[in-house]
Amino acid sequence: MSQKRILITGAAGFLGSHLCDRFVKEGYYVIGMDNLITGHISNIEHLMPLKNFEFYHHDVSNFVNVPGKLDYILHFASPASPIDYLKIPIQTLKVGSLGTHNLLGLAMAKKARMLIASTSEVYGDPLVHPQTEEYYGNVNPVGPRGVYDEAKRFQEAMTMAYHTYHGLETRIARIFNTYGPRMRLNDGRVLPAFIGQALRGENLTIFGDGSQTRSFCYVDDQVEGIYRLLLSDHAYPVNIGNPDEITISQFAEEIIALTGTNQKVIYTDLPQDDPMQRQPDISKAKDILGWQPKVSRTEGLKITYDYFRSLPKEQLYKKEHKSFENYQR
Ligand code: UDP
Repeated sequence: MSQKRILITGAAGFLGSHLCDRFVKEGYYVIGMDNLITGHISNIEHLMPLKNFEFYHHDVSNFVNVPGKLDYILHFASPASPIDYLKIPIQTLKVGSLGTHNLLGLAMAKKARMLIASTSEVYGDPLVHPQTEEYYGNVNPVGPRGVYDEAKRFQEAMTMAYHTYHGLETRIARIFNTYGPRMRLNDGRVLPAFIGQALRGENLTIFGDGSQTRSFCYVDDQVEGIYRLLLSDHAYPVNIGNPDEITISQFAEEIIALTGTNQKVIYTDLPQDDPMQRQPDISKAKDILGWQPKVSRTEGLKITYDYFRSLPKEQLYKKEHKSFENYQR
């Protein structure tokens, strides 16, 4: 049987790079693509010398082509932290809409199966708890998160239309908060924010009163769920996340205990439309994929903390990656 070929967009990002690792390990020929705005080449440097990996520096919001056959496309290119999509709102909208359209066209041309990275953000600030795939969500289209949430909702609609109208094989992963090595230290997300603050000897900033909840999934579990979903025959959205829910206050206490910092928590304003609760109902993933997370938060946080500790000290004080400052609209 000939070697399977897969295109992974957002390859230099947090999730994209871990997916590249996984598919390389499974023996696929992996084509990574990234415009390096929020991703960083250091995440995939180790793959560059391999015979079954190649990298294209390209923005998928523009026409996409790759030579040769393609069996699968994973569309993981998008800014994914609230700070990022506030800074680059137009590009966030474009990569979820135009980028997805370009890749669906490529999937048609290559007769490839396409999986999109959707998100728990399609549920907005949810009024149903835990969130099942049947819940339609509570999203403010014109709020600060609207550019991401609506791009992702459009992305799902477009992907489903290609499935029903063109018969394209598609998969939709609704990804809940995921963490692990290679998150950007200064991307504003709560986990790198807290760990970065602890390592710099600063107080931990809790937004609001800290009673809002999230449910954090370790990256290896997330990658396993996505891998199984791609190879399944289920075209409808599937939640992939860890249902172990925690308040942000409790989370801060866990980071303080883990890092041994003698700093305290300080409270600042809650950003507009910040979801008050989030927990995936993963019954579908369990039934359809035989999947559930295996890595406990204690275990996952330790690995992630060790990763952040191993980074060169100057990264702790960098505001952003250099490439990020050069973004264009
Ligand atoms: N958060 C916080 N302090 C920070 C960064 C984030 O309290 O320094 C809160 C944020 O308001 C949200 C939660 O942590 O309620 C998760 O935020 P994150 O940006 O990681 O992801 P998302 O809101 O997209 O789930």
